[in-house]
Amino acid sequence: MKYCKNCIMPDTRPDQIFDDNGICNACLSFNKNNEINWPERENELNEIIDEAKKRSSYWDCVIPSSGGKDSTYQALWAKSKGLHPILVTASTCDLSEVGRKNLDNLKKLGFDTIEISNDPKIRSRLNKISLELIGDISWPEHVSIFTAPIRFALNYKIPLILYGENPQIEYGGPKKSLSNYILDRKWMEEFGGLIGLRVSDLIEIYGFSSKELGIYSYPSSEELDKFKIKSIFLGYFEKWDSLRNYNKAKEKGFTEYENLEGCYFNFEKIDNYQHGIHDYFKYLKFGFGRATDQLCYLVRRGIISRERAVNKVYELEGKFPVSYMGKSTEKILDKIGLSITEFKKICDKFTNKKIFKTDQSGKLVFDEKGNLIKKYSI
Ligand SMILES: [Zn+2]
Repeated sequence: MKYCKNCIMPDTRPDQIFDDNGICNACLSFNKNNEINWPERENELNEIIDEAKKRSSYWDCVIPSSGGKDSTYQALWAKSKGLHPILVTASTCDLSEVGRKNLDNLKKLGFDTIEISNDPKIRSRLNKISLELIGDISWPEHVSIFTAPIRFALNYKIPLILYGENPQIEYGGPKKSLSNYILDRKWMEEFGGLIGLRVSDLIEIYGFSSKELGIYSYPSSEELDKFKIKSIFLGYFEKWDSLRNYNKAKEKGFTEYENLEGCYFNFEKIDNYQHGIHDYFKYLKFGFGRATDQLCYLVRRGIISRERAVNKVYELEGKFPVSYMGKSTEKILDKIGLSITEFKKICDKFTNKKIFKTDQSGKLVFDEKGNLIKKYSI
């Protein structure tokens, strides 16, 4: 396990490539920000906006919205551009109190909104299946934040979908993905969480009907040919800045959460009680969690030193998730029909033994607090 010499991102992150000097591609891509011709991209974006306004009947664009800082920023931004948006929320798997508050705040700010809340019974089954099968409790959420907005846009003939950040630009990805601003089926399959578990498998193996899982399936090419929709990342057209978005959203009534377990920021990943479990599995598989992503963001921008980031990451990351946002893991798991003993077995199954210490018989070793021990240090 190697770490970027500039930030603290490890090379275990999927799609992470280091250059000959040991610098990760997210840092390289961030440094190239100044070489981008932003005015040219703005013109390109203005053309897309004009086209959408011409083609729309009443809603010009869909903003996929979790009620978070980014969607609040995007919604305000769209209004400032004279767009008439509808905010489409694909509800999170286990909506938190503060998440509810922030969704309601967006309504108060004066937007048309709709919440698509998929059948919670089916959803809980999907949470359990995807955790057991691919070590990702959040599969239903990852998929429906892409499928629900485009299905809504197709039905109401809305020509544009405005996503925010392109994760490959912020966190690193293959070179060609850095100059991409279109979110289509190809992107979904490569980066959007479709890989690993297919809707067709769920129907075949677990006996769901295709109608029950319709909202989790991306429209077919035939459906998409009937009305052309452009899904774009705003983060390609303007310098994306999570902190700026947070500050703007806060001015408009957005609420953060105090002391978020395993995180450095307290204003991200606050809309779903299952986020802590999701991020812990990322740690088990790749040896890093949410705090690493957030601290890398700050190091790249020169907001904190690499040394401080290293100290902070040891303090915050890698702990067995006892609770998230004040809700105990037992309660969170109870909702999807899993006991803590079953959960721990699933954790062991997905723990990368190349990264974490084992004894001579190959069994994972835990410290006195019940946490795994990493073989590598930053
Ligand atoms: Zn880096």
